[in-house]
Amino acid sequence: MSYSDGAGQPEVVPAISSSTGVNMEEVLGKPDGALKPLDFNGPYGMLIDGEIVSTSEGFDVFNPADNRVLASAPAGASADMNAAIAAAKRAFPSWAALSADQREEYIVALFSALEVHKEEFITLLSLEQGKPRHNQASFEVNLANPWIPETAKSRLKDQVLEEDDERRVELRRSPLGVVGAIIPWNYPYLHVLWKSVPALITGNSVVLKPSPYTPLCALRIGELAAQVLPPGVFNIVTGGNELGQILTEHPDVAMITFTGSTATGAKIMAACAGTIKRVTLELGGNDPAILLPDADWKDAVPKVFAAAYGNSGQWCIAAKRIYVHRSFHDDFVEAFVEYGKTQKVGDGMDPTSDLGPINNRMQYDKLRDLFADTQRNGYRVPLGGTIDESLDGNFVPITVVDDPPEDSRVVQEEPFGPIVPILVYDDIDEVVQRANSTVYGLGATVWASDLDAALDVASRLESGNVWINGGQSHPLHAPFGGHKQSGLSVEHGDEGLASHTNNKTLVIRKR
Ligand code: NAD
Repeated sequence: MSYSDGAGQPEVVPAISSSTGVNMEEVLGKPDGALKPLDFNGPYGMLIDGEIVSTSEGFDVFNPADNRVLASAPAGASADMNAAIAAAKRAFPSWAALSADQREEYIVALFSALEVHKEEFITLLSLEQGKPRHNQASFEVNLANPWIPETAKSRLKDQVLEEDDERRVELRRSPLGVVGAIIPWNYPYLHVLWKSVPALITGNSVVLKPSPYTPLCALRIGELAAQVLPPGVFNIVTGGNELGQILTEHPDVAMITFTGSTATGAKIMAACAGTIKRVTLELGGNDPAILLPDADWKDAVPKVFAAAYGNSGQWCIAAKRIYVHRSFHDDFVEAFVEYGKTQKVGDGMDPTSDLGPINNRMQYDKLRDLFADTQRNGYRVPLGGTIDESLDGNFVPITVVDDPPEDSRVVQEEPFGPIVPILVYDDIDEVVQRANSTVYGLGATVWASDLDAALDVASRLESGNVWINGGQSHPLHAPFGGHKQSGLSVEHGDEGLASHTNNKTLVIRKR
């Protein structure tokens, strides 16, 4: 199989000039700053201590559009994870000793290398994750890449908290050491960078463990990082869940930054307790979309649809329960279903597909079970409802469930697939109470003409993020995190950066 998409990519990045004393020629190993070309067909190797490491054992990575083997990824052993942690520990002091400007320069070099291979990454992402190349895979890479240099520009400033003739009190920040990053399979390109760039710019070294369902983009990013970053600063080890456990329990790892399910997040928090690690947890959600009585619901139909079914529902902040006021519920459902019929689920490499397959068989089987529950209970399903299991790929139809009971599984659980309930409500207090009656608190959308009314509802929602009259955008400098069992701590913005550092309070007596 060839990953070439005919985009005519150049094979080398242009020379990267230095303005802060980092010798980029030395870093890149060639006088013209050229990088070695990548072969997206394989073989794939892990990144440990600046070297690309192969293993005797591999595991299959499947294309979810046909369940054929796409590539073999290295099955890292515990010795590989331990070697990566040791390398990160060795690399930490000299990386932390660089100025932030120097670290920025290395990170920008990685960005430049990723940009050269952007089109190939979009293809690889579509093939390993399933999301359509032309829309969602392209969106993911084009969102992630410009974010890298912008984040690398961020600086946490030392603060003077108090000063008088007698004394000065300062708050300074220092990096933690080795940061372990564990990521899921729904945004396997974006998460590599969202986890590692904030840790690196604040002076930490990183060991990253991708999901075994989607390791390929991470491994190719690692190949570029090997040519751009100092050895040991960034390491990538692929394999099963047990590698994640080694990372969480290891005494030389100072912090775990995790994105994944709430169930795994709880295990990680427990495992980190033994060594009092810092933990950032970005976990599951069951986000409500609330259309208030004065909402322009016709205008909202395609926007709410995208908020709910984007990435085939496989995203943490997807709208997973749509609450619609009784006064326009019937009309809304009709228009929503008509819009849904115009959207095509298909192979991610087909430019006519709007949505792709479910990434892996485990998640597909969970959805089969949820669909069976919906059928068994006889809920009204005006769109979709039956999975065609004769298809080779993990295709699940766009499915709308009309007004199932509030305690039904399709309302209470996080489906992580293209099945969404539309629920009727009568008054605002009631809908706020129903929206909040879940262990999750990640995101919510509110749709209304009266912004004050929308803001009032937003302020009452137990949710880390609320979007009003729009889909889930991600402002660069805004912290992102969940309330309740949707997470702990935040990513992004100054608060996200600060979570990768220790506070140090200095009390300086002047006389
Ligand atoms: P998951 O929890 O099954 O796995 C995530 C990662 O954890 C994988 O790399 C896996 O190998 C690793 N892992 C599994 N068991 C482990 C253990 N005991 N110790 C250490 N690591 C372990 O999640 P998933 O199925 O890959 O992703 C889907 C979930 O992620 C959904 O619940 C979704 O809502 C959530 N998610 C949250 C966010 C967010 O920002 N809040 C973003 C994306 C996805």
